Amino acid sequence: MSGKISFFKSVENYVDKAAAFTDIPKGLVEQIKVCNLVLQIRFPIRVDGNYQVIEAYRVQHSHHRLPTKGGIRYAETVDQDEVMALASLMTFKCALVDVPFGGAKGGIKINPANFSEEQLQNITRRYTSELVKKNFIGPGIDVPAPDYGTGPREMAWILDTYQALRHGEVDSIACVTGKPVTQNGIRGRAEATGRGVFYGLRECMRHEEDMVKIGLTKGIEGKTMVVQGLGNVGSNTALISQAEGHVKIIGIAEREGSIHGPDGIDVEKLLAFRKETGSIIGFPGTKHIGDASAALELECDILVPAALENQITLDNASRIKAKIIAEAANGPITADADPILIAKGIIILPDFYINAGGVTVSYFEWLKNLSHHRFGRLENRFQHDAYRRIVMKVEEFTGKTLSDRDRDLLTRGGTEVDLVNSGLEDTMITAYNQIKETFRQHPDIKDMRTAAFVCSLKKIAGDYISMGIFP
Ligand code: GLU
Repeated sequence: MSGKISFFKSVENYVDKAAAFTDIPKGLVEQIKVCNLVLQIRFPIRVDGNYQVIEAYRVQHSHHRLPTKGGIRYAETVDQDEVMALASLMTFKCALVDVPFGGAKGGIKINPANFSEEQLQNITRRYTSELVKKNFIGPGIDVPAPDYGTGPREMAWILDTYQALRHGEVDSIACVTGKPVTQNGIRGRAEATGRGVFYGLRECMRHEEDMVKIGLTKGIEGKTMVVQGLGNVGSNTALISQAEGHVKIIGIAEREGSIHGPDGIDVEKLLAFRKETGSIIGFPGTKHIGDASAALELECDILVPAALENQITLDNASRIKAKIIAEAANGPITADADPILIAKGIIILPDFYINAGGVTVSYFEWLKNLSHHRFGRLENRFQHDAYRRIVMKVEEFTGKTLSDRDRDLLTRGGTEVDLVNSGLEDTMITAYNQIKETFRQHPDIKDMRTAAFVCSLKKIAGDYISMGIFP
């Protein structure tokens, strides 16, 4: 929470600010802002011969499109306000990237590190059966996914519990996404959020006129980056930006503290070092510069807060020296810090745009599950043969022969991961350009968050209006 404003209230304030740039009727804006359904759950589990009451939530923010969609987080910070705020961000996220779902979110107030794997499985299965009982989960109702503190393992437990209770339902595998690939998941989902952050940043930095304003040259290559959080999103953002964007990672923050490596930090090696030693501190070629928030204040081109909410606040906002902030986490900047950063001319790529890669590939997984076949399976060989015939003709006409490597590249049909990544890339680029178009239509909008909210609001309002509820 930022000062006195709750997280949910701050999302509402952002929506109100954006709504002022539209002609959406006030009552409709109110309907879009509220959470439609809030489920509060309490259940006991046995820990070391004793009972512990577990507090959990599932919030369905908007039903303008179904199913509703959003992750489930396991964290001690979980409370109703946080889950409501995150569910609401999911609505705007899905609308922005044209993923046809309403927003939802779930949360269990636990620190997973304090429980054994068996206890976590019990908690996850019990939570799922509560959702089934209340009709809060299903391929056409509400489809959970991973979030902070959860991953493919938990999704597999959710699927198994759902299938045990809804035996024989033909589309049951689409009741949850982010599953292991062997359990009807999709290739590319695990790294999708980080990959999406990279595609969004690369698209933003491709526009010379915008980069010049912040004193940068066009293009992501060679730019410096600082990442807070080496969880799924942070580590994949860093790895992919380094490998595919030739970005120089110069600072990393984790629970144990921050490190600075002005000559560049090899993220793959750093992850292996942390696995071995349990810490990033002491990684060769880097200096320990302070606690988990110290790296946020480093001088860099791109800052990626990829941990939890409320990291850049009234306290440290004036000391942030980055030129671009990519909100890979949800809500890392508090509402009172936001205007300070905007006044400094920093470009903020808002959370519900820049971290939308996860839900985008979840959508592809859901489509795959409903179609009961792997993308590329039917057309892969057909495409390969067709391309091979074209290449052979070209060789025949020109009298030139291609190298084996070039021939392979030209004749390859798209595999599942190729198709997923290209769909994700297209989604992130298209959404960025929709935000840019909104700027063009509303020259008085000064920041990307407001422009992105305007974009989403117009789409959601359009849905309600065409349903005939709001003539
Ligand atoms: N938890 C992720 C998010 O906040 C992914 C949600 C999903 O895949 O449904 O966007």
